[in-house]
Amino acid sequence: MSRVFNFCAGPAALPEAVLLKAQADLADWQGCGLSVMEMSHRSDEIVSIANAAEASLRRLLSISDDYAVLFLQGGASQQFAAVPLNLAGQNPVVDYVNTGQWSKKAIAEAKRFADVAVVASSEDRNFTYVPDQSAWARSDNAAYIHICPNETIGGVAFHELPSGDTPIVADMSSTILSQPIDVNDYGVIYAGAQKNIGPAGLTVVIARRDLLGKASAHCPTMLDWKVAADNDSMYNTPPTFAIYLAGLVFEWLEELGGLTAMAEINQRKAGKLYGYIDGSGFYANPVALANRSLMNVPFTLADASLDKAFLAGADAAGLLNLKGHRSVGGMRASIYNAVPEAAIDALIDYMRDFAAKNG
Ligand SMILES: *Cc1c(COP(=O)(O)O)cnc(C)c1O
Repeated sequence: MSRVFNFCAGPAALPEAVLLKAQADLADWQGCGLSVMEMSHRSDEIVSIANAAEASLRRLLSISDDYAVLFLQGGASQQFAAVPLNLAGQNPVVDYVNTGQWSKKAIAEAKRFADVAVVASSEDRNFTYVPDQSAWARSDNAAYIHICPNETIGGVAFHELPSGDTPIVADMSSTILSQPIDVNDYGVIYAGAQKNIGPAGLTVVIARRDLLGKASAHCPTMLDWKVAADNDSMYNTPPTFAIYLAGLVFEWLEELGGLTAMAEINQRKAGKLYGYIDGSGFYANPVALANRSLMNVPFTLADASLDKAFLAGADAAGLLNLKGHRSVGGMRASIYNAVPEAAIDALIDYMRDFAAKNG
């Protein structure tokens, strides 16, 4: 077996230990004589796999019984619609902070179902910072305020939560499980799995129970969080294999020491990479220092005409998927939980070498 270092923004790297465990159990899960993919979602096996995954996630994030944990499909993009359909049924006024491409998409979708107020935007400087809260123009009576705590494309992170009692809805697709958070600070957290949780096809929603049961009359059954909660996420066939694999990732995180241990590793990884970029005189990161992401590190080369050569050399060195998003240009290294520290070291070695030859 020969594995490369994968810096893909998503679907992203998975822990090698998890892949090997799934491989060992693939055709015959724990002596059952069939694979997880072939089991009825009503079977004791799948119910126990899903329950174990939920319990592990609850331990990792200290999620209390006041919150429902839902295993859904449709990606974070589906939740862009589900959020207003579930929460703006009675009061259509909703606040959104626009800090990047994903916020923008969430806003565009919410506008189909609610009266959206964009309370602040950093589009004026190509989404390279988070506008200071003192300047946000918040509504008096919003049903919720939506934020994207980690903008995957721009590499911009919130480090301060919106103040007040309005429920906070957070798209945590690219930051969930990267460090401890207090779930009680949020009304709803949602995340596509394919960055920091598991394979594509699973979407995790963590919703405060008192916010359930308020969906608008035209909310599709499959988007109604209350229906999902009342049916233990098995109203229809759930993504069973993705839930199983996510459960293995949660277990891996727990064995590693949980989110405090993971956050230490993530700080060290990101610190090394930003430290090298800042001191290089050849590479640059465009994001305001206070808003740099732990998970997604965009960077440009001193001369953009070298981008192609940089990427070709990286590929040849087993450093994959470093091309930046077209809206930002340059490169982006996504360094999620499953990207080992050795990958950062190898990337920095390659970057140093490339700069020396081309600087
Ligand atoms: C990847 C991503 C999305 C889109 O997720 P899908 O699961 O593909 O719908 C939304 N928001 C953020 C922050 C993301 O990183």
